[in-house]
Amino acid sequence: MMTRMTRTLGDERKTAGSRAAVLFLVAGFLCALSLFKPDPKPSLPIAIGLAVAAFAVAAALHFSPWDRWHPRALLIVAPVAYLFIYVFDVFIGTNPYAYSISFILISIWIGLAQPQYTSIVLSPLTAAAYLLPLLRPGHSSDELNSVWFMAPICVVIGEIVARAVTEFNRSRTELNTRAKMLSILMRGARSMNTLDADKVLEGSMDSLIELGFDGAAFNLISEDGQTFRTFTTRNLPADYEQPLHPLTYGITGIVYSNLEPMIIDDYPNHPTAVPAIKGAGYQVFAGVPVWAEDKVIGVLLAGRKNKKRISSHDREALERLAAQASGALVNARRFENERRTAQQHAESSMRDPLTGLGNRRQIDATLAKLFPNDAVLMIDLDRFKSVNDTDGHAAGDALLAKLGGFLKSQMREGDSAGRYGGEEFLIVLKAIGDDALSAAERIAQAWRDSKPRTTMSIGVAVHRFGVTAEDTVKRADTALYEAKHTGRDRVCEAKD
Ligand code: GH3
Ligand code: MG
Ligand code: MG
Repeated sequence: MMTRMTRTLGDERKTAGSRAAVLFLVAGFLCALSLFKPDPKPSLPIAIGLAVAAFAVAAALHFSPWDRWHPRALLIVAPVAYLFIYVFDVFIGTNPYAYSISFILISIWIGLAQPQYTSIVLSPLTAAAYLLPLLRPGHSSDELNSVWFMAPICVVIGEIVARAVTEFNRSRTELNTRAKMLSILMRGARSMNTLDADKVLEGSMDSLIELGFDGAAFNLISEDGQTFRTFTTRNLPADYEQPLHPLTYGITGIVYSNLEPMIIDDYPNHPTAVPAIKGAGYQVFAGVPVWAEDKVIGVLLAGRKNKKRISSHDREALERLAAQASGALVNARRFENERRTAQQHAESSMRDPLTGLGNRRQIDATLAKLFPNDAVLMIDLDRFKSVNDTDGHAAGDALLAKLGGFLKSQMREGDSAGRYGGEEFLIVLKAIGDDALSAAERIAQAWRDSKPRTTMSIGVAVHRFGVTAEDTVKRADTALYEAKHTGRDRVCEAKD
């Protein structure tokens, strides 16, 4: 598979074929140029014939489908080149410098196109090819002896080039892997830019699969550190995805207690291997801790079904994802805490701490939603001042607290009771209409039955169309005043 960023081995073979073609092109031109050479001049048909042959070989090398053939097929270039040098030497003749340089050029090509040690393996062929033309008459013994340093020079040059190419390819692969990893992580980080912890964890699962893992999981460890919950997974057996596991299950507990990543290269034979995961064919597995401030709160797991070991890149990717997940989880938690605190503040600002009922603010909010046929009850404890005076303020408070609990117990769904001020309370009974008086009587009787330190008086008003809530409250207050003035411990209803 070819990506924009990675050059494949097939590409490289095509390039090597083209480079060899350049060598033969040069040879072809040299053949043609040899016509201008002083004595001995080659015959025109030979020079042209050799030039054409060299160009034909160049074209064949350039257009051959090297990417589809075995990598070693390219080795054919070396004997063909040696043969060409031989033919050139026989029919055109060379000088010793050009002769040596052509061997060095071929060695450079072998270094570029073939793996390390190829030059060493080919050295007998190179030496033979170097010697063969020189054995013919017309060559000096000095030329013949030059094989003793030319053959090693060709090997050394070929090996130096091959080594440099190997190093270069290794760095390029490394850079490509890193670039790919970083781009996947960056994409993952974008999906994690959210306060939704679920989304963050789903994002890290996706990134792991994209990075070449076959399966992944995020396990959230319980507060007491005894169990873990598999929060989200990718491609893991259903057995593993059960809601709760003891921390001794798999490697999660080990990562949790060691506080560091754990990498298993032979998963099926590891003592902690989970049978279901082993059964699904996983060969390598890794787990990294997910921190929240100074505590490990979860473990990010990823595995592969092939035996490719967990590389330093894999480990780095896992750790970066764990760090991203941890950051997002901490943010999500903080956000949730802030939301809860704000909600608590909002609730407590509407609540009377002594009685546990709504306060005046809550009552105002309830009255704003008053509908016709809702009833407003104003309740006032009778001679409450004397409770304070006789039993003390604390006893008075205790009685108010008791009344708070009592009123709450009397409310049906939708009704509300609040502390209006001092020892005065306001109740709204929803949609009660003409039953308001008897409901109020029931409340007063229930209070009496609870044998309280003092009784209560109640003023009742049913809300009607066309009047304000304020008017209805005033009418209930007037009814309460009447109850007080007609002897207390009673209920009075406002006249319409
Ligand atoms: P009445 O039957 O006419 O209502 O007589 P009362 O004594 O209940 O009426 P009054 O309004 O004169 O007295 C109310 C008392 O309630 C006065 C005040 O000290 C007391 N009170 C108000 N708020 C609290 C409180 O939060 N705790 C305590 N212990 N007493 C309170
Ligand atoms: Mg009172
Ligand atoms: Mg009062």
